[in-house]
Amino acid sequence: MCCQRVRLCSSTQTGSSMMSSVSPAHRDGVEWRWAAKGAAQRFLAALPRTVPAQRTVVLAYHSVAAEPTRASTARSVFQSHLGWIAEHCEVVAFERLASAGVQRGDGSRPTVAITFDDGYEDNHRDALPLLASHGLPATFFITTGLVDRDELALARLRRAWGPRERSLRPISIEQLREMDSAGMAFGAHSRTHPNLRMLDEIELMNEIAGSRDRLEEILQRRVNAFAYPFGDARFHISATAVAVAATSGFTTAATIDYRGVSRTTDPLLIPRFPVSNDPVEILRAKVLGRLDLIGAWRERMPGWLTGPLSSGRRRGVGP
Ligand SMILES: [Zn+2]
Repeated sequence: MCCQRVRLCSSTQTGSSMMSSVSPAHRDGVEWRWAAKGAAQRFLAALPRTVPAQRTVVLAYHSVAAEPTRASTARSVFQSHLGWIAEHCEVVAFERLASAGVQRGDGSRPTVAITFDDGYEDNHRDALPLLASHGLPATFFITTGLVDRDELALARLRRAWGPRERSLRPISIEQLREMDSAGMAFGAHSRTHPNLRMLDEIELMNEIAGSRDRLEEILQRRVNAFAYPFGDARFHISATAVAVAATSGFTTAATIDYRGVSRTTDPLLIPRFPVSNDPVEILRAKVLGRLDLIGAWRERMPGWLTGPLSSGRRRGVGP
């Protein structure tokens, strides 16, 4: 989850129900940004464009809930996403994206990897049965301090949930092991979900290698994948953090960005499209590359311009 008290960890959105504790001006600003972003997405999704023959995309979810909010994916919406993905895409585990063969794909259907961040109970209760019913694999990036009920991790994620903090339910060790037995894959997502860009090398080792060690202890298997908390390479990831991920033994690591995976993608900086309560046509546009312009625009424009419509450059600022 993200550090701003009404935002989730990466580029997920804020729920109207979460807005009750913020000022009207702030609420209006957030609502305006999301309305503008939604309009831009719908416009780009409607543009006719040639679909690249070889397209690989990673999707980043967080939470699946019965009640739709901007911060989580409604169960019915997730079901519709999986139905479309199963019919139109080749689904692979995230870690296989380090393979050049998978990055190229076979050109017949887009290749998609499904991921979840943070480690919530609903991943086991709601997401797992739906994934299993479609026979689709997914990779879950776990904040190990959340699983261990670490006070700092809980405080950061509760702040992100805002008024909904009472409904925050960390996944348990037993549920993780059950999902592992069901064929789901796992990666680390730090110990306490900080903004890694704010940390020195020793702190980075503690968060990055520490989360891998703890997850390996829980699962009793090797963990090779990592996802950077918050995930925006401009605001939440440093060169030192990437280097520490490499020296910690991770072979793949995920960011958040509006772009697909290419043959030139650094395996330690694999972009993922944020997905929340998107209608299927927006999900389809992300998979087929019609929203890549957003990623290219964010890359070329200065932060002061892209910030208002981006995943939130201030995320990760805070204790
Ligand atoms: Zn997160």
